[in-house]
Amino acid sequence: MKQKIGLELTDCLKELHLPTVRECYKEQADLARRESLSYERYLLELMEREREVRRQNRIIRLLRESKLPLEKTLSTFDRKRLPRKIDAQINVLLDGSFLDRTENVLAFGNPGSGKTHLLCAIGYELVQQGRRVLFKSCNLLVQEMLIAKRDLKLPRLLKQLARYDALIIDDIGYVQQNRAEMEVLFTLLADRYERGSVMLTSNLPFSQWEKIFKDPMTTAAAIDRLVHHSIILELNLQSYRLEESKKQKEKINIMQT
Ligand code: ADP
Ligand code: MG
Repeated sequence: MKQKIGLELTDCLKELHLPTVRECYKEQADLARRESLSYERYLLELMEREREVRRQNRIIRLLRESKLPLEKTLSTFDRKRLPRKIDAQINVLLDGSFLDRTENVLAFGNPGSGKTHLLCAIGYELVQQGRRVLFKSCNLLVQEMLIAKRDLKLPRLLKQLARYDALIIDDIGYVQQNRAEMEVLFTLLADRYERGSVMLTSNLPFSQWEKIFKDPMTTAAAIDRLVHHSIILELNLQSYRLEESKKQKEKINIMQT
């Protein structure tokens, strides 16, 4: 009789897609009998386990989907290098509420100042909270959009991108773009305006964005949309790599003297 119930229960749990309950229910039932737990407590224990495993799986899936470089997290980022004000801004960003307000995060600074690492690290933490994030270099994103446009699938791609809470566009303006490239980029920014957060990094200050968007009108329109609800991080720091290699040389010098 007990065996028959077990088989039927296993069937049910399979059909209902509750793999963790299926795995644990027997062992938990033995425990519940031994410790005279109530039915409710037993059920709660199983449901909590199922939920926990699902949450973990979701985060693994989101992380894979995000294409974030996994080595660029906060644990490998030296926040002490940052000015106090930016460090405080990061704390605010980490709670993720800027995504609900569809605010943008714009990180500026010279090459090597840590823009990409910082935005990736924030993205990683947001994924841990169950948020959908996508990391792309501006170049790759533009090329993908051009292909989609050629195949008359740009609206579909924009719809896919709209599903992400945050779109991290890395290195906007790094490569000189032609008109067609600039147009799709503008289409994307216009499409996301007040609908989803954009997090971007750029070596170019706004004053040089005409290099990206070619004519003054489009440039102003693009900047306007991005800045309207935004948090700007100015990372005017010395290159991390340069600083590290200097430290290394100093160490060698000390050792030699
Ligand atoms: P940017 O995007 O501004 O050009 P990156 O984020 O690519 O700069 O940083 C350059 C390199 O230095 C990367 O390998 C990055 O991991 C490292 N780096 C930059 N800032 C820091 C920091 N504060 N702590 C640890 N590593 C850093
Ligand atoms: Mg970068």
